[in-house]
Amino acid sequence: MSHELRTPLQAVLGYTEFLLASASPRLTPEELEDLGYIQQGGHRMLTLINQLLDLSRLEAGRLEVSCKPVDLSQTLEEVRQDVSPQASQKGIELKIILPMSLPLVAADSERLRQILLNLVANAVKFTDQGTVAIRALAHEDRVSVTVADTGIGIPPGELPHIFEAFRQADSRLARRHGGAGLGLAIAQKLPDLMDGQLTVESQPGQGSAFTLMMPAITRPQAR
Ligand code: ADP
Repeated sequence: MSHELRTPLQAVLGYTEFLLASASPRLTPEELEDLGYIQQGGHRMLTLINQLLDLSRLEAGRLEVSCKPVDLSQTLEEVRQDVSPQASQKGIELKIILPMSLPLVAADSERLRQILLNLVANAVKFTDQGTVAIRALAHEDRVSVTVADTGIGIPPGELPHIFEAFRQADSRLARRHGGAGLGLAIAQKLPDLMDGQLTVESQPGQGSAFTLMMPAITRPQAR
């Protein structure tokens, strides 16, 4: 199924990219703009297909993860680089706050990056001004990462449902921002496979804070 859905779309995206790169000197500005729309739409559709496939695999208990020691500071830096163009475009400060030393965590690095990218991208998406702060802290045998924003927040009535698939707090806003309401459903189910946990606190008009708890790799005791 994954192959059937992804392959034709990869072809559309591949040919669009090829046209943009090789034929661009011969295309009019309008044609170039139209190709840009095809490319944007294609990428949005690829994201949606990937999310639907992830969710159905998670619900069928068929998604496999491979947990290894991961350096969270590196993952967070990669996430920052991905989201920083959108943050600077909106004038939002994006900061990472790390303690002097942070234990490695046991996680599937790609899946961990996916969860954090979703949280940070949402924080930027639903914040008009202020800060998105990503703070990591070491606890006894766990490490927490909190993504806190100064954005619109989530109404109390919506908060208990925010991790349900296809759930969006404000459908009008969601249409403006894009997205299908699947990111958080996946971001909450994935940690279950890695002995982690995702929780949320939010105040409408003040902001939201999503906290991901992951198992720390504690050094063996010296004898
Ligand atoms: P979407 O693709 O719609 O963003 P998500 O599952 O990632 O899907 O999020 C679901 C909904 O949760 C969003 O549409 C939004 O209403 C709400 N939400 C998520 N993150 C935030 C946030 N940081 N601040 C306010 N609302 C949020």
